[in-house]
Amino acid sequence: MKILVMNAGSSSQKSCLYELPGGSLPEHPPEPLWEGQITWVEGVDHASVKVKTHQGHVLKQDLPPQSRFDDTLKLLKTLWTGDTQVIRSPEEIALVGHRVVHGGSHYRQSVVVTAAVKAEIERLAEFAPVHNPVNLEGIQITETLLGNQTPQVAVFDTAFHATLPPAAYIYPGRYEWLEQGIRRYGFHGISHQYCAQRAAQILQRDLANLRLINCHLGNGASLSAIRNGVSVDTTMGFTPLEGLMMGSRSGSIDPGIIIRLLRQEGYTVDQLDHLLNNDCGLEGLSGVSNDLRDIDAAIATGNQQAEQALEVYIHRLRWHIGAMLPSLGGLDALIFTAGIGENAPQIRAAACAPFEFLGLKLDPEKNANRPVDQDIATPDSAVRVLVIHTQEDWAIAQEAWRIYTTR
Ligand code: AMP
Repeated sequence: MKILVMNAGSSSQKSCLYELPGGSLPEHPPEPLWEGQITWVEGVDHASVKVKTHQGHVLKQDLPPQSRFDDTLKLLKTLWTGDTQVIRSPEEIALVGHRVVHGGSHYRQSVVVTAAVKAEIERLAEFAPVHNPVNLEGIQITETLLGNQTPQVAVFDTAFHATLPPAAYIYPGRYEWLEQGIRRYGFHGISHQYCAQRAAQILQRDLANLRLINCHLGNGASLSAIRNGVSVDTTMGFTPLEGLMMGSRSGSIDPGIIIRLLRQEGYTVDQLDHLLNNDCGLEGLSGVSNDLRDIDAAIATGNQQAEQALEVYIHRLRWHIGAMLPSLGGLDALIFTAGIGENAPQIRAAACAPFEFLGLKLDPEKNANRPVDQDIATPDSAVRVLVIHTQEDWAIAQEAWRIYTTR
């Protein structure tokens, strides 16, 4: 069975094709047959396409300006044309899984896409104006290519957090907010859920008896407190702006700052939106970049502003890890994943250091040795520390398969 995964972001469309031999789920993620990506850069009048197949064929191409819809159709056509061909025709695709960022309060798990589901994804664009429209467009593109007969499954980034208790998801504002859907939803759920399941596999423990904190530290970043397999707290909220300091997002700040910027500095709403999402965090504070590698390089040359930005990043990370503990009542494993979580041993070490009082002991050698899906705590540590390579696309494929086969 061949499953196509569509993962649409604000300025990119990632996609991959998996084959499940014998139509069942393998224990370990298989290599995709085909991986494709388009990137649209603001101010650049072409889209950049990259395609890679499991046989090692690579296509790199710049497309002349067209619509996102047409560019994505072209990307997908490389599945059955040219050097990157891996299938004879689109009919070979049995199932499509789509990442959809916002499922609101309604979708507590993945669903087969119907006209009603599409209408709801569109309605929820109110809460995710950048992502839900492009996620919906991805569904329309695959419908155009494959027709209505190929089942499509929407896998929501918010669904894993549907188990948050009311005390964790209600803001201490006005009750009407809750009635208007202004509440905490949480994001990165596909990654948090995948990492929790993978952690149980690595530890050879039952997920139903584990207390985990998953640190998804990429350009966007969030934590999830996972008790007995379900999310009980998380750092992102109504939008992905809340919580940790991120690459270019501020994370949580005093709302009074926003009032001041509006009142005294004359910011428009759009300017504020751009500022908090694109010009803050590591980027805004360091004045260097949103990329930790650039910050590290700047620190190595004595850049004190970059050093201070990193100190704030670490302080906030520790602070939020600590804030996850009461919902768990203990900790069996601390997990690091995504770009920074998987590749930055100094961040892992700094995040772990203040939790030695819990009996957590990091093995510095294992931490430094590019661990992948590995336990990097010492044997006598009271808390396991795991580095897990998050595989969101594979998680989407798995979810699509699970929903499709159990419907
Ligand atoms: P993601 O959003 O998961 O793709 O993560 C992207 C971020 O991970 C980048 O912006 C970097 O800050 C960080 N990153 C990726 N590779 C490394 C690395 N080798 N060392 C430190 N940080 C890295």
